[in-house]
Amino acid sequence: MAKVLLCLAHMSGNEMQYIQEAFDTNWVVPLGPNVNAFEKDLEAMCGEGKRVVALSSGTAAIHLAMVNLGVTRGDEVICQSMTFSASANPIVYQGATPVFVDSEERSWNMDANLLEDAIKQRIAVTGRKPKAIVPVYLYGMPAYIDDIMEVANRYEIPVIEDSAEGFGSRWKGRVVGTIGRFGIMSFNGNKMITTSGGGALICPDDETARRTLFFATQSREPVPYYLHKEIGYNYRMSNICAGIGRGQMTILDEHLAHHRHLCDVYVSLLKDVEGITVHVNPDERFDSNCWLNTVLIDPVTSGTDCERVMEALAAADIESRPLWKPMHTQPVFAGAPALVNGVSERLFSMGLCLPSGPWVSDDDAARVVDVMLSTRR
Ligand SMILES: *Cc1c(COP(=O)(O)O)cnc(C)c1O
Repeated sequence: MAKVLLCLAHMSGNEMQYIQEAFDTNWVVPLGPNVNAFEKDLEAMCGEGKRVVALSSGTAAIHLAMVNLGVTRGDEVICQSMTFSASANPIVYQGATPVFVDSEERSWNMDANLLEDAIKQRIAVTGRKPKAIVPVYLYGMPAYIDDIMEVANRYEIPVIEDSAEGFGSRWKGRVVGTIGRFGIMSFNGNKMITTSGGGALICPDDETARRTLFFATQSREPVPYYLHKEIGYNYRMSNICAGIGRGQMTILDEHLAHHRHLCDVYVSLLKDVEGITVHVNPDERFDSNCWLNTVLIDPVTSGTDCERVMEALAAADIESRPLWKPMHTQPVFAGAPALVNGVSERLFSMGLCLPSGPWVSDDDAARVVDVMLSTRR
């Protein structure tokens, strides 16, 4: 039986046509017709007059959001603690300090009340406001972003939505990543769509997109010789990668439908099982892309636990993964200020990501659940 993977890339078949075009016209460089067309596709998806700049990774996109906002040495930036390290690393690239904020139970994303406590605390301690706020859409689940935006707007602090995992997710019908000042896309190998590696920054207007492109191409001034007044980066997406992205956009809707279908399958298979709960949209305002479907396994009531399940799945050639280990518990961020409420640590101790990608069939999902249930004492 073939190994069942978490989220393996899946090509539409149209990718090669765009790559071939790039070779035929010799646009094998970090700019070109595929890059421009891919950006147009992404802008059409976002709507709301947003501009999108294609970059070499999602991490680069977060970094350039920080650069755009002037985050610098001595600043503090508030970041959701429950996330992948790429949300927080660019804060440190800029010489700033991350301040970690815990999650609330329903969405697993940033707790807006704790966010306000963190802002008040940092102003009291440092005399200055944090420079930006980075909420995250874990596994594609939107956050209570209206509440987060309300707090952010009240203190006039810009929001960078780390929507890297939420490609195609919506909050009250709006594409996530278009609600704050900046939004992030990632096209890494196992994300909702892939360019083999890549990302994009969702920008509020033409001027910000122009600045982002400027920073991403070494901050070269528009004169005939190489003149630099600001530090630059080599972060532009290549025309080959963008060709893959254009092909992937042609099957985005199918991918989204399949990820969401698998969520329904897991829910129906586990609905009568005590102590194992699938993470689903908390109410109708949420529309997760179900990038990775996740479960919480209560070690007291389920008769099993995450470690036993992961081991059994691995033995059955099925890939699973623990939830992200909160940033405030990571050695590399020891000493960073953190406002915690126990939610992210509890989720980490009980949660598991299940196979969810385009290659996972209904039968595969049934086998995942069978193996999971076989570990009950
Ligand atoms: C994948 C990911 C990123 C970074 O994207 P890359 O394209 O891998 O650099 C950032 N934040 C989160 C939450 C992610 O899952």
